[in-house]
Amino acid sequence: MVIAAAAVAACVAMVIAVVVVSRPTSPPPRPVDSRQLRDAITTEALAAHLDALQRVADTHDGNRAAGTAGYDASLDYVEARLQGAGYRTERQRFSYQRPDFTRASLGRTAPSAAAYTVLRDFRPLDFSGAGSVTAVVTAVDLALDGDRATTSGCEASDFTGFPRGTIALVQRGTCSFAQKVDHAVAAGARAVVILNQGNEQGRLGLFAGTLGRQADVPVVATTFDLGREWSTPGTTLELAVESTVATITSESLIADTGGAPDHTVVVGAHLDGVAEGPGINDNGSGVAAVLETAVQFAALGVQPHNRVRFAFWGAEEDGLYGSRHYVAQLDEAARRSTALYLNLDMVGSPKPVASVYGGGNLGSGWPSGSGAVQTVLTDFLTAQGVTPGTTTFRSSDHASFLDAGIAAGGLFTGADDGADPCYHQACDRAATIDREMLGLMADAAADATLTFAQTP
Ligand SMILES: [Zn+2]
Repeated sequence: MVIAAAAVAACVAMVIAVVVVSRPTSPPPRPVDSRQLRDAITTEALAAHLDALQRVADTHDGNRAAGTAGYDASLDYVEARLQGAGYRTERQRFSYQRPDFTRASLGRTAPSAAAYTVLRDFRPLDFSGAGSVTAVVTAVDLALDGDRATTSGCEASDFTGFPRGTIALVQRGTCSFAQKVDHAVAAGARAVVILNQGNEQGRLGLFAGTLGRQADVPVVATTFDLGREWSTPGTTLELAVESTVATITSESLIADTGGAPDHTVVVGAHLDGVAEGPGINDNGSGVAAVLETAVQFAALGVQPHNRVRFAFWGAEEDGLYGSRHYVAQLDEAARRSTALYLNLDMVGSPKPVASVYGGGNLGSGWPSGSGAVQTVLTDFLTAQGVTPGTTTFRSSDHASFLDAGIAAGGLFTGADDGADPCYHQACDRAATIDREMLGLMADAAADATLTFAQTP
């Protein structure tokens, strides 16, 4: 799961989709008997995939991040399992720019000296420029009191009279970080500091964000309180950022069953993890469920009416790059032939909350058909005695399909909302996975996959 870099694109897609949802959707698919398939998907087999990915991480610097040997070994593992089950696999190669910073420091020299800590008090935005700047701070159209509804930096006119060569202090809100920085640089700012908006509890502390493309000057984020402090006239800051942008080349893996290609059911999970840990709940759990469903589909000789495409995405954590690449390279006919996408991301959380993507919820703005996926998953879990919650988060690979107007749904058991205390950390290991919940989620995914595969 990642920060929502593509928020703007998603909003546009949303507007279009709302119109679609109001039309009557197709009747829900006929239920199928998925017991044989579910019985074949054992907790032991799922655990074996988790343990294998754990071993991969343990023997590759503790992680399976995109662009690393750990990721490549994960790909080899999944590919070997699929080919062993009789699938012809296809690797899809893609490249992207990954920003990073190697060093950053920030201090105040006036009105009094102070030193600040990176990743606690401030952090460079993704694609921040590199450089060292010591200069006076110029506050730009800040709204520090009242409801703090701000358009700071969103208009070029905000910089009328802006003293060139100073550091622009702008406030988060209303327009993109990149727009604010573009206006500041055009006005002669040597660096940009963006304070959090401060208009609600979740927008007070330090935040991460991206500019989406390389900036010419250092750009850092800070908390609302520190930003307010630095808005004091005469404040002088000393800022240094060493940043890099690496070109990462990685691969996703897909494998198809037989069946009609003009109604392809895509079932996927991202295979990469973050650099901080082995990424077993995020997202070895989703990989294990999709992989074992594929293996047992073949082992049982299931003859699907509709083609099923099992997909293992690369570089989800860096920005959904694998699934975005997959959708982007679909031509119009292939896009129309994609009936739906089923996503599994984090389905074995230690303190799990079983959830289904709420695409059918009125106002969700998800493409028509998403409701049918929600219904099938919800009905299955309810029949197992588990009443799932719903979630409409878009920070995983299903967003790539939703943004293309393709119906989607999925399963989730919780992340940094208390359900997974090891989210994006070194302790996200095989031992912390709730294997019973993973088993149930895998069954739900298998049941839905078979249901949509057999629906004419
Ligand atoms: Zn994830």
